[in-house]
Amino acid sequence: MEYKQYNGFGLSRLGYGAMRLPEKDGRIDREVASTLIDKAIKGGVTYIDTAVVYHAGDSEVFLGEVLKNYSRDSYCLASKFTINASPDYKTMFEEQLQRLGTDYLDFYLMHGIGDSTAQRYIDEGAVDYFLEQKRKGRIRFLGFSTHASPEVLKKFVSHHQWDFAQMQLNYFDWNFSHTEEEYNILRDNNIPIVVMEPVRGGRLADLTPEANAMLKVAHPEWSIASWAFRFVRSLPQVQVILSGMTTLNQVEDNLATFSSDNNFTEKDREILFEAARLFRSQVHIPCTSCRYCCETCPSEINIPEWLKLYNRSKIDGGWVIKRFGDAVESKGVPADCVACRECIKQCPQGIDIPSLLEELTDALR
Ligand code: SF4
Ligand code: SF4
Repeated sequence: MEYKQYNGFGLSRLGYGAMRLPEKDGRIDREVASTLIDKAIKGGVTYIDTAVVYHAGDSEVFLGEVLKNYSRDSYCLASKFTINASPDYKTMFEEQLQRLGTDYLDFYLMHGIGDSTAQRYIDEGAVDYFLEQKRKGRIRFLGFSTHASPEVLKKFVSHHQWDFAQMQLNYFDWNFSHTEEEYNILRDNNIPIVVMEPVRGGRLADLTPEANAMLKVAHPEWSIASWAFRFVRSLPQVQVILSGMTTLNQVEDNLATFSSDNNFTEKDREILFEAARLFRSQVHIPCTSCRYCCETCPSEINIPEWLKLYNRSKIDGGWVIKRFGDAVESKGVPADCVACRECIKQCPQGIDIPSLLEELTDALR
């Protein structure tokens, strides 16, 4: 296992994210999950991350049970205050310590600051309260996780010198989102980074056959997922890389990746970015939101917004269609399409809109 020094601690580069533990009958499968945690700890993992909302509270309960088997100073435990779950930070913190069976947390985070919640963490007193808990030794390092825009992130980091921050970071978002800008904000403020979603919820563990082949030609012995880990591991501001491991295979593959030298060259980075571009072009509908199609649609379907959701489902998984379908601002829904094909005549990208709306209709059922 590779370690990186952090304020006198040797933190493992690989961290265990306890949000996707194996389940059985709608609950964490204690037997299998304990085996995975044991394998990871024996393989050198020293950073374990949870939150009150993971597995509807059961993640903290489970970790409290299983971590009794290991000495308290052999691992670092991270959990989070989630303002959207409850604004009562004092009660939440006490309950978390109780569930986790500990009297201190090594790492504690304001959970998922976003554009609408970042200021609330400050204004409602949570940040000041947790700084006080830190002074009392009940929290060793105070940080936050973020989904905020670069502008909001910049303002939030200026509150005081944060000990660390957790952000979604992977080579796909680095190329097609604001990730690089957010990374630079944290780097410029000397804030070490804990990475979440390095494999984008598993989506980057298997690209399209052509994009996979591009990576396999370059390094036949590397798994596709390991490319994602190698990329984030190569970034100097990154401290720990979380993986929400669900199977023994994932634990073993990750331990192998983090136990060998990274050997990720500038050339590898170029190949990876090229594979990312190919992958995106193959799964992405090239809608430019010009809205020409909307002018002729008799069913008043907001086509570009539905195609945006379609594209997102190709990267994040089909579940997003059901989950976010209601949030699409559109008078007509995909099922209202009467297949008149008027929209195709207007579309400069030649997109077969009715077929895609049919797929969306099936996915929404
Ligand atoms: S084919 Fe469907 S989406 Fe296209 S214009 Fe006709 S009703 Fe609207
Ligand atoms: S006309 Fe084509 S590119 Fe323009 S918004 Fe409609 S689907 Fe997208």
